Amino acid sequence: MLATRLYAPTLREVPSDADVVSQQLMLRAGFMRKVANGLYSFLPLGWRSIKKIEAIVREEMDRSMAQEIMMPILQPADMWKESGRWNAYGAEMMRINDRHDVEYCLGPTHEEMITTLVKHEINSYRQLPVNLYQIQSKFRDERRPRYGLMRSREFIMKDAYSFDIDEAGADISYQSMYDAYSRIFSRCGLTFRPVEADSGAIGGSKTHEFMAIAEAGEADIVHCTSCDYAANIEIGKPGIMKQEVEPLGELQIVDTPNASTIEAVANMLQLPLEKTMKAVVLSVDGKVVLAMVRGDHEVNEVAVQHAVNGSVEPEMATPEELASVGLTAGFISPVGLEQNENFLIVVDESIMESYNVCGGANKADAHYININPKRDFNVDDIIVAPIRFITDEDSCPICGSPLEKSKGIEVGQVFKLGTKYSESLDATFLDQNGRPTPMVMGCYGIGVSRTLAAAIEQYHDENGIILPRSIAPFEVVIVPINAKDESLMNVSQAVYNELLKNGVDVLLDDRKDRAGVKFKDADLIGYPLRITVSKNTLESQEVEIRIRKTGEAINCPINEVLEKVRALLFTL
Ligand SMILES: [Zn+2]
Repeated sequence: MLATRLYAPTLREVPSDADVVSQQLMLRAGFMRKVANGLYSFLPLGWRSIKKIEAIVREEMDRSMAQEIMMPILQPADMWKESGRWNAYGAEMMRINDRHDVEYCLGPTHEEMITTLVKHEINSYRQLPVNLYQIQSKFRDERRPRYGLMRSREFIMKDAYSFDIDEAGADISYQSMYDAYSRIFSRCGLTFRPVEADSGAIGGSKTHEFMAIAEAGEADIVHCTSCDYAANIEIGKPGIMKQEVEPLGELQIVDTPNASTIEAVANMLQLPLEKTMKAVVLSVDGKVVLAMVRGDHEVNEVAVQHAVNGSVEPEMATPEELASVGLTAGFISPVGLEQNENFLIVVDESIMESYNVCGGANKADAHYININPKRDFNVDDIIVAPIRFITDEDSCPICGSPLEKSKGIEVGQVFKLGTKYSESLDATFLDQNGRPTPMVMGCYGIGVSRTLAAAIEQYHDENGIILPRSIAPFEVVIVPINAKDESLMNVSQAVYNELLKNGVDVLLDDRKDRAGVKFKDADLIGYPLRITVSKNTLESQEVEIRIRKTGEAINCPINEVLEKVRALLFTL
């Protein structure tokens, strides 16, 4: 490709509404342009990287004997109603009606459609196992699209679905996809970690997320410093933190004017945070749920959902909902409260092992001190459960060693689904004894566009993008210092032709711009190798090969360029 023909408008300024590095750099380097909130067009450079990621995904999926298909993006509501997810999916599902007023959605995922497809074609155990996948756009009506490709409304996904005759077969399919994902993300050059995770709206019995480790990640994960344990903190099970037993003080009300946050109260009463408790009021399945954790802990809403057997993810309760059960925001504790059919109280296990703590007095501008939960709560009428997030102050639930925390971008997830969809959608086959049996399913997703964003989050510097060679838009750029100089152009063209002929993905920067401009663009776009052809080249018959990742520059005889480029690319 010639730079004079390349459609890659770069920007010198950082776009003001771009809030993460990957988004800023992809806009600046001309990888993509914003269409509307959460919607992006890929330009040639970005699309070349996406295509390279897709090629790696295809190779590894095919190697695992998964087979590529393509299903419609537009999905009839009927099959979602049959599985029970039309309502359960909530506001994130993009719903539309056609001209006959028939309901559809733009697919956020394809369990319903693939199960419906397969059930009509497969009727004997002899036809199983089967694993089918596709790569296409998916839709999620995000409340707040942000972080560029990391939380966009339309995104490119690879989704695969496996069908087996039994649990043992499904375990083999799961492991095969887990291994394929490990190879895919390794080949994309990512630093990643598979972690235990929550199965959320998809459902199922076992799941791992593949997390690209990056500060910009939205997911908090913990991993053990000595064994393989790693988990999203949404699912990491915290232990019980016991406080030292103290003589029980007398329950008293103290004035705490305007101190409606637990930090303000702790400050005012000179208490350490662990001697306080905080309330988060949630709404789950139309019920108001009061969730209590220690002041130094955070409520895990997913754990609250499990504790109350909620069918949907909890949302924050509205002021009206608080009022409906008589709660005073900022001054809430379970002392003196009772559950009823519209109101549940869930208390974290560690609170029950606390003594003489401070909590809301259930009236404005007042708190209790010396709350002793085992004495002062209606202990037979509350739900006690592990509802706080695991922290790096907890120990590893497997081996007891210290944990470390990090941030991750979820680039893939594998699920063992069991028979949830095959039962609700009636996808059965005849087993060896001729009995109708539901297929055992798994589903497996990779965020293709998100993988590109994650790679840029991991690989960049102040000058621009430094993508691994496997997913960089081009492997090599050739920069003649002066494109008006015919002799320089002749050498450049000869090197270009030789690399191109030998399968190197190369761009010739034949623009008549100053060398400084071309070097800046080369660093911004992040070609793994830059070959500079200068006046010096004509005298010494050598070019300079510069490695973007390390900044190292090597002089190389013109007739050895191909060999040297191949050797260097192998390491990048
Ligand atoms: Zn461990």
